Amino acid sequence: MDITLALLKPHVVRNVYAFQQIKQIIHQNFTVLHSKEVHITKQLSEHFYAEHKGKFFYNRLVTFMGSGPCHAFILQSKDSIAKWRELMGPTKVYKAVYSHPDCIRGLYGLSDTRNACHGSDSEESVAREISIIFPELDKNRLSAVDS
Ligand code: GDP
Repeated sequence: MDITLALLKPHVVRNVYAFQQIKQIIHQNFTVLHSKEVHITKQLSEHFYAEHKGKFFYNRLVTFMGSGPCHAFILQSKDSIAKWRELMGPTKVYKAVYSHPDCIRGLYGLSDTRNACHGSDSEESVAREISIIFPELDKNRLSAVDS
């Protein structure tokens, strides 16, 4: 069993129906170890998305992430990173709608920036992103759950 970080972006947290539907998908597929509403300040968002600094969409992305509360989850399952990314679908919403219409981004994404959700893409990203979004958690206890 391993863990991943999932983040629901502001427009889906604001949309009661979308939020409920995505939570249902999460609970059907994972054990939720931790879950909380999180207000991602611009500063936090810049740190979280540092690898994209300088790209044309960076300012739009970090501003959008601070436009309202997000909801963060630490999810556990076998192959949790790949599983959550598959449930999210492609980054680009036009592609998601066309090729994976039933994925979360295909159903609830509005644009490439407002593509409904985030998921860590590697074990290193999981550790880094959990320490940013859940700084209050003890890393050693999380890896104990992970084993
Ligand atoms: P992810 O791991 O699938 O979320 O994709 P990335 O790590 O490549 O990108 C992080 C976030 O940046 C994505 O979820 C999108 O919201 C945003 N993003 C990536 N590529 C683009 C793009 O070409 N245009 C816009 N507007 N946003 C993008």
